[in-house]
Amino acid sequence: MFDNSTSTAHINQLAQGLFGLAPELNITSVTLSNLHIHFPSTEKSVSMATFLSSKHNWLTETLTMVESNQAIQVKKTALSIADIYFFEPVALEQKHDDFDKVIANISSQLIDIQSDSVDKKIEDALRTMGTFCQADRSYLFQFSPDGMLMSNTHEWVNHGIAPFKEQLQDVPQEALPYFFNTLKASGIFMVPDVNTLPPAAELERTEFQSEGIKSLLCIALFSENALFGFIGCDCVHSKHNWTETDLLRIKLVGEILTSALKNASYKLHIEDMQNQLLKVNKELKSQANIDSLTTIANRRCFDKTLSTEIQRAARIKKPLSLIICDIDYFKLYNDNFGHQQGDQVLKQVAIALHDLCKREGDLAARYGGEEFAIILPCLNESDCYHFAQLLQKKVRELKIDHPYSNVSKYLTLSVGCFSCIPDKHTQEDLMILAADSALYQAKSAGRNLINTFTKHR
Ligand code: GH3
Ligand code: MG
Ligand code: MG
Repeated sequence: MFDNSTSTAHINQLAQGLFGLAPELNITSVTLSNLHIHFPSTEKSVSMATFLSSKHNWLTETLTMVESNQAIQVKKTALSIADIYFFEPVALEQKHDDFDKVIANISSQLIDIQSDSVDKKIEDALRTMGTFCQADRSYLFQFSPDGMLMSNTHEWVNHGIAPFKEQLQDVPQEALPYFFNTLKASGIFMVPDVNTLPPAAELERTEFQSEGIKSLLCIALFSENALFGFIGCDCVHSKHNWTETDLLRIKLVGEILTSALKNASYKLHIEDMQNQLLKVNKELKSQANIDSLTTIANRRCFDKTLSTEIQRAARIKKPLSLIICDIDYFKLYNDNFGHQQGDQVLKQVAIALHDLCKREGDLAARYGGEEFAIILPCLNESDCYHFAQLLQKKVRELKIDHPYSNVSKYLTLSVGCFSCIPDKHTQEDLMILAADSALYQAKSAGRNLINTFTKHR
């Protein structure tokens, strides 16, 4: 507030902060001599002293006070009432506030964001930055992993301004050497007027002019001390004298985007690791259920499956069959052909049994050394017996010579079967015991036989 009668300017706290002024100033002293009032309508500037001493009615104007580089917009809310002037440096503060709010909002959303919506938020941030810096276009460029090429990954353009994102993909650094050297050296590339670029920036001037750019301001983005991109604003309609505030805003948005992109790439990295872990876990899980020699289900898998199938059969009141079979005279086979060849035979038999288990829920497992167990849901006693015959046939058809067997010239199986309709009292152990006992009977009765356990025995 300026009091003409005493030639004293009373400066409120806000103005003191903005201009670094004392609370009371005598306007006739030189204190305000470097302060100027700028009129956007006429593009004219006058000193503060001239402005205050003049009787001209400037009430309707929103004015800009310029001190060195700082531009602060003020509004005269009342004029010349008893020679007292009121100035309101509020408009820009309000704008600051809005910018801070919008950016804080975007920033907090970016912290917790899913990687697929990062792009949208980055564009929001660019729009806010461009709008508040009164630019026509704002953008984010990122470098290729080797740093040689740059691509415009995100762009905002004002109404009626041509976008350039699509044309600015994989641009080699050599295309704009002056730009990159400046950016690398100082982290900032600030050009209020493209026409005043030095001769060394010939390539840049040509490029910027071809895009219709009159002024631009870019700042470098660093992550872990490595330059990975830059963000910036272009002015196309008119030249723009970049202010400290513009620079601060772009820097702030740059920092936010740097951490957002870092977060997004960490998230992708973590997702990738999680997927790998899931894959390994799945693999480990399946390995835990597989017999390493024969590659069919192991005893652990058999135990789990039998328990599940008993419960399922009890629930649906359907029969469940269990077969335990054992290679005849396998010790003799090993003793004569060697353990390694014995292993090959075990594999062959296992695969043959596994191939017979075609229906969903059927399971062939290696139960012990040369013993196999087969779970057959929904098969009753006679079906099970039929299946056991198929087993023997299939093994016989393998025609594995076994000259030391007492029952056949080929390798044979003895088979024990047990079938029941399980209920909630049915125990796995008892089913196994029954099938095992049937197998024992088959062995005792001469081998290469099928025997079914019945309760009446
Ligand atoms: P039976 O007709 O009474 O079943 O006679 P068998 O010789 O088959 O039975 P026994 O229990 O006396 O011998 C089982 C043999 O199975 C002993 C062992 O050498 C062999 N065996 C068990 N596990 C393996 C294995 O993983 N690899 C090989 N090659 N042989 C095995
Ligand atoms: Mg045996
Ligand atoms: Mg055995």
